[in-house]
Amino acid sequence: MKRRDFLKAAGTGALIATSAGTASARDNLPVSEEAVGMLYDATLCIGCRACVVKCKEINEMPPELVEGAEQWDMAEELSADTLTIIQAYNGATGGNAARLEDGTFSFSKRQCMHCVDAGCVSVCPVKAMKKDPKTGIVSHDPDACIGCRYCVMACPYNVPKYEYDEAFGQIQKCQLCNQKGVERIDQGQITGCTEVCPTGANIFGTRKELLAEAKRRLQLKKGDTYRYQLSSIDSPHTYETQVKADYQQHIFGEKEGGGTQVLVLAGTPITNLGLPELPERSYAANSETVQHTLYGGMIAPAGILAGLIYLARRNTKGGDHDE
Ligand code: SF4
Ligand code: SF4
Ligand code: SF4
Repeated sequence: MKRRDFLKAAGTGALIATSAGTASARDNLPVSEEAVGMLYDATLCIGCRACVVKCKEINEMPPELVEGAEQWDMAEELSADTLTIIQAYNGATGGNAARLEDGTFSFSKRQCMHCVDAGCVSVCPVKAMKKDPKTGIVSHDPDACIGCRYCVMACPYNVPKYEYDEAFGQIQKCQLCNQKGVERIDQGQITGCTEVCPTGANIFGTRKELLAEAKRRLQLKKGDTYRYQLSSIDSPHTYETQVKADYQQHIFGEKEGGGTQVLVLAGTPITNLGLPELPERSYAANSETVQHTLYGGMIAPAGILAGLIYLARRNTKGGDHDE
């Protein structure tokens, strides 16, 4: 089954189950007060890809080279060797394009969104995908992982990547720089990609603070002067500049799929940036509703079966007795 079909089936199953009255749908999980994340403001991104390079350095991942351009990392999509990517949306021709033909374009940064109610966590049968109850970081434990790749299917952002070319392949994805051996967040540091961003297009902070900052930016108009933060929401390093574009009145990740801890602002419709249109209800809530329906629904048949066995035994005993 393809990833998209899997997600659709979960949604349809939940709908059937709930409308048939056989299930009580579970709500989206709430966000932790101390959840951390990043705010990517595409209007500030200059496409320098310093974030991509820093991410590779921290995660010790090799560049992805193409023939004829051996000196440049040419990754165009997330992969098991590339946990974040900068893509360009071309406003002139539509779609993602590396070559821009006029001034109407926007960059887009992709990585794990650290979903509030993560599909990858919900489907993992061995709890190798985990969400920290305090920081909300979604991490992956390679020692627990059995390589079933359910998480790959269940991610609406197509993020987890499996190492198909390794004998004992593993799942790779951004862990917000807080995995075993890195632990930047636990040590009070910020993520590598926000640390090196020269324009503050990508900043680190608590989701609460980042959401408030995103809402402040939505009040701005193109040409207004604004003081932007560099690296993190509470950084003493700020700079003043003119707002480059009218913000779309939409904070991606505030509500999509139950919300994410990586939030996105843009000057072009956010769906142009390669992000999916998602309902507010998380896929995890949908799929767990289906699971609980299946398991819950088995209580009734099991009860009936137990009753039948009891009756059959009683009648058999009764029959014996009567004879
Ligand atoms: S973006 Fe995908 S991999 Fe990341 S937390 Fe959400 S479901 Fe999991
Ligand atoms: S948070 Fe860390 S792992 Fe995730 S994209 Fe940024 S640098 Fe890479
Ligand atoms: S480092 Fe900042 S400005 Fe450069 S590509 Fe990454 S997000 Fe954009």
